[in-house]
Amino acid sequence: MNIHEYQGKQLLKRYGVAVPHGYVAFTEDQAVEAAEKIQTDIKVVKAQIHAGGRGKAGGVKIARSNEEVRAYADELLGKVLVTHQTGPAGKEVKRLLIEEGSDIDKEYYLGIVLDRSSSRVTVIASSEGGMEIEQVAEETPDKIYRESVDPLVGLAPFQARRIAFSIGIPKKLVNKAVKFMLGLYQVFVEKDCSIAEINPLVVTKSGDVLALDAKLNFDDNGLYRNKDILDFRDLDEEDEKEIEASKYGLNYIALEGNIGCMVNGAGLAMATMDIIKSFHGEPANFLDVGGGASKEKVEAAFRLIMSDQHVKGILVNIFGGIMKCDVIAEGIVAATEKIGLTVPLVVRLEGTNVDLGKEILRRSGLNITPAQTMADAAEKIVSLVDQAAGGVAK
Ligand code: ADP
Ligand code: MG
Repeated sequence: MNIHEYQGKQLLKRYGVAVPHGYVAFTEDQAVEAAEKIQTDIKVVKAQIHAGGRGKAGGVKIARSNEEVRAYADELLGKVLVTHQTGPAGKEVKRLLIEEGSDIDKEYYLGIVLDRSSSRVTVIASSEGGMEIEQVAEETPDKIYRESVDPLVGLAPFQARRIAFSIGIPKKLVNKAVKFMLGLYQVFVEKDCSIAEINPLVVTKSGDVLALDAKLNFDDNGLYRNKDILDFRDLDEEDEKEIEASKYGLNYIALEGNIGCMVNGAGLAMATMDIIKSFHGEPANFLDVGGGASKEKVEAAFRLIMSDQHVKGILVNIFGGIMKCDVIAEGIVAATEKIGLTVPLVVRLEGTNVDLGKEILRRSGLNITPAQTMADAAEKIVSLVDQAAGGVAK
């Protein structure tokens, strides 16, 4: 789960990580009220969306007066911001963070992630803050510093000091930077983060070490024990269909293509998307209905796929193990009875109760194209969708 920058900063503050003083605003009036409470001459108006790259896209404004704060708030609220992380459709700005302008001396990068190859939490830091860390890694990998954390000991103060020295934090501010890093590490561990990224971390001319940005991402599997994090959830930032899917415990991710996929098992779902691509089709979604899905769950999954306007064909690829093919078939029939089937449907069933499943689909009278292998299934759905589009190449 993602949260907004201002929420991340609230959380960081609780753990002793220094952040600029600021307030969230949903309206122009609230933005001005917030600005009145801030002491600095310069105030920063920041669009709150679940995506980075706002600075370059015009989502971070420097205001020199409260009138300017109002003008920027007016400009940003309701605006669709397109950054390199939002995709071409962009995201509508509905909240702003109004905060103190910092007298930045230098920007740094600090991130905490889980390194799967070493199975350890790893701190990544760089003197090159404010830039995309991927770009720094590519162009100047020697400017990236890593510390691997022993899970029993946690991030040790000597490690934090080593990081601070390695990226060139001024000597007299090293202690502040160490406190900052230990606090950030504590948030990461206690709140089950999958990423905690501060870009930029800044040192100011007045000698502070501050988080100017905060990107915190949480492991959904830990949310049951982090109710305070769950309160930060902003449904406006999530895809409606993904919200619906989460109610049924379906693993669903909306994509850009036009072939809806219903698959069981994440591995098979990935392979199905790959094989659609290899036949020059574009999957409309990733959908794993899970191991022991019920008829209702399958029905919900099917409805979800059909509710996507972009879907021009559906591929069902099921390997029945714990999941039984007849349950899948019943779910498909139940869903189509209610909402109809207006696009081509290719079904590949294999495994437990496969004959029974095929029989149920046959008797349903639905216009279903059966397929034997995955390649066969992918080829068929891609060509059916192409035919429906009048044979026009996508
Ligand atoms: P994003 O990563 O989405 O572009 P940031 O929060 O990192 O957004 O802001 C982009 C840039 O704007 C920062 O690198 C920094 O230079 C400047 N900036 C952001 N917040 C402040 C602030 N409170 N005071 C001064 N400059 C800021
Ligand atoms: Mg940033």
